[in-house]
Amino acid sequence: MQESPEQSYFRLRFWGVRGSIPVSDAEMQGGGGDTACVEMRCGSQVLLFDAGSGLRRAGEVLAREGVAEFDLFLSHWHYDHIIGLPFFRPLMQENCKAVIWAGRLDSRLGASEAVAAFMRPPFFPVCPKMFQAAVVYRDFEPGDILKPQHGIILRTARLQHPGGVIGYRVEYRDKACVYMTDVAAAGEEIDPAAADLARNADLVIYDCMYTDVEVAEHGGYGHSTWQRAVRLCRAAGVARLALFHHAPERTDKALAELESQARAEFPGAFAARSGKMLLL
Ligand SMILES: [Zn+2]
Ligand SMILES: [Zn+2]
Repeated sequence: MQESPEQSYFRLRFWGVRGSIPVSDAEMQGGGGDTACVEMRCGSQVLLFDAGSGLRRAGEVLAREGVAEFDLFLSHWHYDHIIGLPFFRPLMQENCKAVIWAGRLDSRLGASEAVAAFMRPPFFPVCPKMFQAAVVYRDFEPGDILKPQHGIILRTARLQHPGGVIGYRVEYRDKACVYMTDVAAAGEEIDPAAADLARNADLVIYDCMYTDVEVAEHGGYGHSTWQRAVRLCRAAGVARLALFHHAPERTDKALAELESQARAEFPGAFAARSGKMLLL
């Protein structure tokens, strides 16, 4: 039987690219104000990475597109990566199925416990037991290999960030895409775990919250720089680099400047912007 093109493509869509907190300033809307959420579509399977504020719009658009099954992979429990979950409308729809995946990090919190811990009064009126969708929680250990759907392999690793963070490498067909955000800038050395995950990937989405100059001036707060991202991508033989998790104060103009500096050093680099879609 012939495969349709939709069955074989590996497509990426950025729903939220901002770091730390959503921003609504007019001069930042070209990049986008929503926090971390990335969709990878492997054939008809939808994988979502992180539940930042960008997840709200992802839920609306995917529902219109008729998608009712999701695998949601969380990198860690910091607010900017989970704050969209209570506003992900598919969870309130009976016909939807969602699997929420999370690695056990320093807190050892499981996914079900962590979601129940932040979706509860007095912080928020809606609790997970009010979800109408069929929701399954899957906990794993960093380093585990996950097979959420036929033909899709996810390699995982624990990376350096306060409390820990999971990096994901998604392999589908002959392509590999790596989602690696909230990673500390640790000196000049390249983290071997990050390099292993990124090895020969077609695309790496990486924490480029700061520049090397900014980190030298005020520290990195567990975040990285585009210069470090470029060093990692060169060392690991990566084809393309998406600068991600932009600082809340980074204007569109400043982001365009960073993008052109990064591109001069590494031609495969580009700034992730909300709404951007690309084929791997
Ligand atoms: Zn973050
Ligand atoms: Zn974080």
